[in-house]
Amino acid sequence: MKLGQRATYLVVRTGRALTGTGMSVIACVVVGSGVLPDVTRGEVTAVGVASCFLVALVVASAVAARLRFQSPSARAQRVSLLAHLAPVLADMEVGLALVAGALGIVAMTGGLGSPAHPMVYLIVAFSATFQGRSSVVMVVLATLALEATMALRMAPPGLGLLAENAAFVVLSMSLHAVFLRSLVAKQRSEHRQRLEQEVLAMKNEAREFRLIAATLGAESRAPRSREEEERRLAEGAVETIHASMYYTLELLKESLDLTTCVLLWLDDGGERLKIKELVTDADCVVETALPVGAGALGAIVKDRILLNLSSPKRGHVPYYAGPEEVGAFLGVPVIEDDHLRGVLCADRRGAQPFTAKDEALLVGAASQVLRAIHSERVFSAIERSKYEHERFYHASAMLGRALTPEQVMDTAIEAARAILSFDLASIALFDKEQKRHRVCRVRAFDDAGDMVDPEALEGLEFRDNAGLVSMVVKNKHYLPAGGELRDQSTPVYTRKVKLKGVESLLVLPLVCADDAIGTFTLAARRRHAFGTDAREMLGVIANQVAVSLANAKMYRQMEMMATTDGLTGLLNHRTFQERLADFLGRSERHGLRLALILTDIDHFKNVNDTYGHPVGDHVLKGVARVLQESVRKIDVVARYGGEEFAIIMEGADPVGAQQLAERIRQDVSKVVFQSDKGTFQVTLSLGVAGVPDDAKEKQHLIERADQALYHAKHNGRNRSVTFQQFQAERVSRKAS
Ligand code: GH3
Ligand code: MG
Ligand code: MG
Repeated sequence: MKLGQRATYLVVRTGRALTGTGMSVIACVVVGSGVLPDVTRGEVTAVGVASCFLVALVVASAVAARLRFQSPSARAQRVSLLAHLAPVLADMEVGLALVAGALGIVAMTGGLGSPAHPMVYLIVAFSATFQGRSSVVMVVLATLALEATMALRMAPPGLGLLAENAAFVVLSMSLHAVFLRSLVAKQRSEHRQRLEQEVLAMKNEAREFRLIAATLGAESRAPRSREEEERRLAEGAVETIHASMYYTLELLKESLDLTTCVLLWLDDGGERLKIKELVTDADCVVETALPVGAGALGAIVKDRILLNLSSPKRGHVPYYAGPEEVGAFLGVPVIEDDHLRGVLCADRRGAQPFTAKDEALLVGAASQVLRAIHSERVFSAIERSKYEHERFYHASAMLGRALTPEQVMDTAIEAARAILSFDLASIALFDKEQKRHRVCRVRAFDDAGDMVDPEALEGLEFRDNAGLVSMVVKNKHYLPAGGELRDQSTPVYTRKVKLKGVESLLVLPLVCADDAIGTFTLAARRRHAFGTDAREMLGVIANQVAVSLANAKMYRQMEMMATTDGLTGLLNHRTFQERLADFLGRSERHGLRLALILTDIDHFKNVNDTYGHPVGDHVLKGVARVLQESVRKIDVVARYGGEEFAIIMEGADPVGAQQLAERIRQDVSKVVFQSDKGTFQVTLSLGVAGVPDDAKEKQHLIERADQALYHAKHNGRNRSVTFQQFQAERVSRKAS
């Protein structure tokens, strides 16, 4: 239904409900006005009869309307006020009409003292039990109002009767509201419980038939290792097959009245038959494997025919080691896809020979055994593929979360390993401009042996060549075909690096936005390691690796942009503040010293004014380089502001830091800058303060280094000053 139509429909419905409620109110007014004839007194007038008909009509129409009423949907009630009001109005309509009807009958049969009066309590009780709160209030109010008009019209006014009735009305409303509503609620809750129990029983049954997983909780989703999964699958399958074989044999034994029913299975060499499953009443069945030619078995194995013998000779039934009376023997070959898998044998003591029906039963049982194996095989294949797909999605999610290129590459190898096993993996990235490949990640697993030296491979750089890695980047398609390395001399990376003993190989392109940015190489000693399915999944993973690598690179760039200064490449002011806070926290926890050097280029405005802003920029870069080259690896250099720099030195005291400051000052002063107007040099002023010598918290430390710096400025520039020197001078100046 369209929106417009729906609105019209709702307006019409609510309009109808309003009219109905209005009619019920009118009926109440008619009853209240006292025009209805009191038949006990014989006061029958035309107006009275007409009013009586009107009230009866309103009651009948209200009841009919309520029976026909269909509540708007819960959603409609939520979104539309009209739809929300419709059920309330429908309740009021019928409630008020019934009140008018009941009190109308009361008025016509002698007023408040009428024997029909209890009907009123019934109406109130009905409303209190089944109707909404607003309707109940309206019904009770209307009842009280109508009763009041009746009481007042009596001579003398029946106020006592009114009070009594009113008390009954309120009582009847409360009792029903409490008792009946709680009864309804109880029944509803019982119904819900019954429903829940039925759903639970159904789920249990489904679980018993293995239609759904035994548990769907978090633990069933926890990733298991591939080996563990294989073991679990194999155990489950073997157990199921044995159970199925056992019951088939047991059934045969009971139904054919057998002494022994045995399933013999051919070994790998096809030379011997081993007992796979056995049910017997005899106690001399051999436990060792039997030669395929033994007794009656020879004919069954050789000619692949059913053999039915009555009173066979002793040696004909070779699975008995001791004396056992055999009256009849029946054996059928178990053949799967033209291959003989084993022999199913049955015998009994009595002389009664096996009939054609018995033969058919044994042949059917042999098929049943094969079906059980087959269905377990299918089940295992499905489970395996499900496992691989689960791991695949898990891998995809992991790749999405990896933030650095290193994390992406490690995750990619782990993800591939979760799907299938291989012995060596490497990821090489391709530099498009330089046309060079670089092996960035190598992982060799336990069985890799001497395939290659992983340490020599990692970091290997090579030019575009005729190796598989280069070809894959060029063609953006995996190599070698079918994942099999047929020609062992084919170079994978370069001719110099040889992979030994590799039977299966897969070099996948890492393609992002139609660009091959590198390769993902997997190698295994075993043959056929990378089947079609695995290749497809690995292909998808490789694409995702490419995208994740591009993302990680972008993320790193963004991080760089957010933390470093674009001009000098040093850390920016915000990061300096963060790092200083970190250092201070650490220094407090471990009682380490910390020194801060603040520097400012002397008369830098002059440089800009004389040589121009671009030359000024060049100077800033030059000074930044000197600073970066002078500090230890663990020190932090940042651009503090315009032409001011800061150095944080962990584990250094102000005296040690000043030695570095002096060296920097001298080094900078020696740098000769070029410009159109000739060469020039710049000098630095530096201020030093330390923790815990001069300050304990961040802002204080910065202020003290700043004070020392400005002392250097005011005392001729091109010098370094520690906070303690500045303080000592201040004290001596004051003293003099
Ligand atoms: P003082 O010896 O007292 O430090 O003198 P000064 O001229 O260096 O004075 P001040 O430190 O106040 O001057 C800073 C100047 O550095 C002002 C501003 O034009 C310049 N500056 C700030 N940032 C940049 C920048 O990124 N590039 C260039 N070229 N100049 C900058
Ligand atoms: Mg300055
Ligand atoms: Mg300056």
